[in-house]
Amino acid sequence: MNTLNNAQVAIVTGASRGIGAAVAQRLAKDGFAVAINYASSSAEADALVAELTAAGTKAIAVKADVSKADEVRRMFEITEQQLGKVDVLINNAGVLKTLPLADTSDALYDQTFDINVRGTFNTLREAAARMNNGGRIVNFSSTTLALNMPGYAIYNATKAAVEAFTHVFAKELRGRNITVNAVAPGPIATSLFLDGKTDEQIQNFAKMPPLQRLGQPDDIASVVAFLAGADAGWVNGQILRANGGVA
Ligand code: NAP
Repeated sequence: MNTLNNAQVAIVTGASRGIGAAVAQRLAKDGFAVAINYASSSAEADALVAELTAAGTKAIAVKADVSKADEVRRMFEITEQQLGKVDVLINNAGVLKTLPLADTSDALYDQTFDINVRGTFNTLREAAARMNNGGRIVNFSSTTLALNMPGYAIYNATKAAVEAFTHVFAKELRGRNITVNAVAPGPIATSLFLDGKTDEQIQNFAKMPPLQRLGQPDDIASVVAFLAGADAGWVNGQILRANGGVA
């Protein structure tokens, strides 16, 4: 608990848009002061800060490429200076480009691993040194890991690494009363999922879950809010697959 500001402090990586923005909105509603991290979408991040501030939340936008350790360190420093010591870390920033493994360039492989895996590593390492005891960490995997669809080899490999981090890091934080879990969404209607797909492909994905629709960012924000909140205190080292029943 951050007594200085009388509000717990959350960092949400990749919060300028998509799921991360919905998570930031939900955590703000739940009473957290929120650091909205982004890499390039400064206008969207600033607009979200303005929206949350107008609603009475302490919120800041922090530019940092999560794949760069020095930028992640700086993100924590700025957050501590402006909001207070961090209680909750949501490792949402991620990228996806589907391509058969055989067609994947070195550059795409590096970019996907740098952001999805090294990015999560960078924030977890910083969190270990800096977070308040009693905090919460939520990483982002994906239900695609369970589906094994062609084109997802590199992306799934990055999410497998994130799941491995989640299980081990939960144990490495023994004695700190910090939980480490991951959420593994199914298809969610954001640009990461929608871009580059035909209407027909999107409809096919929407039919996959027995709940017969695409997920929305708020479907995941509510799961993250649960894992970040008081009610999930006994949930630790788990992967929560939130996907409408797709797998
Ligand atoms: P999105 O709409 O594409 O948004 C991605 C966010 O990540 C943006 O705010 C982006 O900010 C940020 N970001 C990208 N690279 C970054 C970097 N190097 N450093 C910091 N921020 C960075 O994606 P999304 O659908 O919300 O996905 C969020 C997470 O959910 C990802 O981890 C993804 O793998 C996971 N997920 C998504 C789905 C889905 O169907 N959408 C399903 C399963 C899992 P900028 O614009 O500033 O770069």
